[in-house]
Amino acid sequence: MNEMNQARKGRLFLIGFGPGAHDQLTLRARQAIAESEVVIGYTTYIKLIAEMLAGKEVIRKGMTEELDRATEAIELARAGRTVALVSSGDIGVYGMAGPTFELLREQGWKPGESPQVEVIAGVTALSSCAARLGAPLTHDFAAISLSDLLTPWPVIERRLEAAGQGDFVIALYNPQSKRRTWQLKRTQEILLRYRAPATPVGIVKSAYRKLESVVLTDLEHMTEHEVGMLTTILVGNSNTVAFEGMMLTPRGYTNKYDLETGEALPGQRPGLSLKLDPAGKPESAGAQGPEGEG
Ligand code: SAH
Repeated sequence: MNEMNQARKGRLFLIGFGPGAHDQLTLRARQAIAESEVVIGYTTYIKLIAEMLAGKEVIRKGMTEELDRATEAIELARAGRTVALVSSGDIGVYGMAGPTFELLREQGWKPGESPQVEVIAGVTALSSCAARLGAPLTHDFAAISLSDLLTPWPVIERRLEAAGQGDFVIALYNPQSKRRTWQLKRTQEILLRYRAPATPVGIVKSAYRKLESVVLTDLEHMTEHEVGMLTTILVGNSNTVAFEGMMLTPRGYTNKYDLETGEALPGQRPGLSLKLDPAGKPESAGAQGPEGEG
């Protein structure tokens, strides 16, 4: 690389802008968009951030042109420009960071070379949707995409089985589209093998966008609601309860403490592992909160 090129080392920002509303965009993402000369993204995403784009070159692409988007972003940035590749949520979660780094790797790119790459985290759908539902993710959870466009369905089923068996709270991304219609029903069947029909399920559509809707239902009825491309579904674990239209997954405090007095229960000590009785239940939690059964 000659000095001229050195001086013009390109930059590539990979930016997740969160669920959609501008106040859900991180400050770093906002700065990076402001610093960029070229902004590339799926048409709908470009619309969502339209008023930040004045004076910039804007390249809009269709949804299926993911590899095109990544290729073009890398080419422009390699040539010395400052380029933002934008996508919704967190760009590293089912996002464009994947294909972009795959291409960079294929091209033999190394850190320190042009372009300089920065991945900027965003608020991913499971976080924004959980926020609309109260506290569904406050224990171990798994994210599973039901899209079998690039992943074989048997692999998805295996992961659903494992998450069901492991009693993870489950966030379902890409649950349904016009052409992918049977996968959600099949998912419900699998999860019903491991969880009660009354397990709380939250269905959040277009979180933090104009047509936002939040529905609280249960595993037995989860397929009776409108679910589309912009929906994320949160399925509770065996301890999750519905509460005032929200979902609450207990952290387990009632296993150890009397919530009213804040005192540790007999046999339990703050800061030490949960003491179990010979039957494997939290000692003295007995007939208390449902998490005693976990
Ligand atoms: N990178 C994105 C996910 C892309 S996959 C992120 O981190 O959020 C696309 C899926 O994300 C959609 O099918 C839907 O399940 C979820 N999603 C994205 N934006 C959403 C929103 N505003 N409300 C609800 N779900 C959303």
